[in-house]
Amino acid sequence: MSAGHDRDWMQAANCKGVDPDLFFPIMKEDGKGAKAVCRRCSVEDECLEYAIDTHQDYGIWGGLNEQEIRAEIKYRARQRRSGEQIVRRVVVINRSREL
Ligand code: SF4
Repeated sequence: MSAGHDRDWMQAANCKGVDPDLFFPIMKEDGKGAKAVCRRCSVEDECLEYAIDTHQDYGIWGGLNEQEIRAEIKYRARQRRSGEQIVRRVVVINRSREL
C-alpha cells in the first residue's frame, strides 16, 4: 500500500469510541490497555500497514507500540534486502508470549 490508500478498514476499527489517549500513552511502558483493544480488532493488519505507510512514529497501531513498529520496519528492510518473504515477526513474538 502507499500513502493515500483507502481508509475503509477504519470503519471496522475496534477502537472506535475508545478514548484516544489510551493509544497515545505518555509513559512508554503503558499501552497494555490499547493492545488489549487491538487484540480483538479485525483490522489489526491494515492498521499496522497504515501506520508504517504513513510513518506514524507515536502511539499504538495494529497492536504494536512505536518501538515495536520501528523493529518491524527494520526487520522488513532486512528481509527485503535478503529477498526473503516478509512476515510480521514482532507480532508473532508478542502473541507467542501471551500463550
Ligand atoms: S488495531 Fe488497534 S489501533 Fe488499529 S484499528 Fe484496531 S483497535 Fe484501533
